[in-house]
Amino acid sequence: MNARDTARAFLLATTGEARLEWRTAFTTDGTDEPTGIVPVCADEDHEPDDGSVYSCCPEPAIECGSHPVAAYLAELLNTDRGAA
Ligand SMILES: [Zn+2]
Repeated sequence: MNARDTARAFLLATTGEARLEWRTAFTTDGTDEPTGIVPVCADEDHEPDDGSVYSCCPEPAIECGSHPVAAYLAELLNTDRGAA
């Protein structure tokens, strides 16, 4: 099993969804821009424009060290949702 399939199996087991949609998120306090990624939150009280991470949000929240890298990884992962 390749890394993508392994990760999808893990995410399916832990979140119930193998092909999560990701967003950038404020995973570190005090940054001007979001420097991490987290799966998109389905909680109706969590505004889509709110980049913070709350207890309503699905795991995992991943700190990426910079906004450009976080944005790139979210874009890559979302593109990969449609790959075989
Ligand atoms: Zn949330």
